[in-house]
Amino acid sequence: MKVRLNADKCQGHARCYALAPELFDVDEYGQGSVRSADSVPADLEDRARLAVANCPEFAIEIIDD
Ligand code: SF4
Repeated sequence: MKVRLNADKCQGHARCYALAPELFDVDEYGQGSVRSADSVPADLEDRARLAVANCPEFAIEIIDD
């Protein structure tokens, strides 16, 4: 599993960072980004799904690898 964040959709709510700081970072404006292009560690997969479910802009997607 990998996560992808669409920066054009992101409106900077920082929900992803609040829920999964191991996977997401935010800049000073709250704009989110994915920390690593690598696969999500197995123990963080639930957190990745939580971030997807809680992004109000539907900016995060999960990609199976
Ligand atoms: S929760 Fe969604 S809108 Fe908010 S910072 Fe993360 S990706 Fe952007």
